[in-house]
Amino acid sequence: MARCRVCGARSPLTASRLAVCAPCLRTGQPDLWLHLARVHGQTRRPFGLPSAPPRDPGGLLCDLCANQCRIPPGEHDRPMTSREHAEEALAAAKAAGLTRVRIGNVHLLGEAYGHASQPTV
Ligand SMILES: [Zn+2]
Repeated sequence: MARCRVCGARSPLTASRLAVCAPCLRTGQPDLWLHLARVHGQTRRPFGLPSAPPRDPGGLLCDLCANQCRIPPGEHDRPMTSREHAEEALAAAKAAGLTRVRIGNVHLLGEAYGHASQPTV
């Protein structure tokens, strides 16, 4: 149960990381956007992501999602999937009964982070 930093209300529906309740979010107060952008950036950092989607004017446009990222030449938009994470996901899939699973794009595996549930900073 988190307390809203705007109105002070406590609610199990308020995310502790955001610390802003839904009614206060709906007000659309401009100063909340700065707080939300900062929290959003903090949640991306453990995964090696930039705090905001890249907007390099000379970058390549990616239109796979609504962010419309412009990725600077020579940079990746996300860290490589760790080999350990991929192997754990494969083992979990097989343990769950899936039979037609494999690790694809092995050339994209790396050691950028240890494990998704325990991101390193
Ligand atoms: Zn509130």
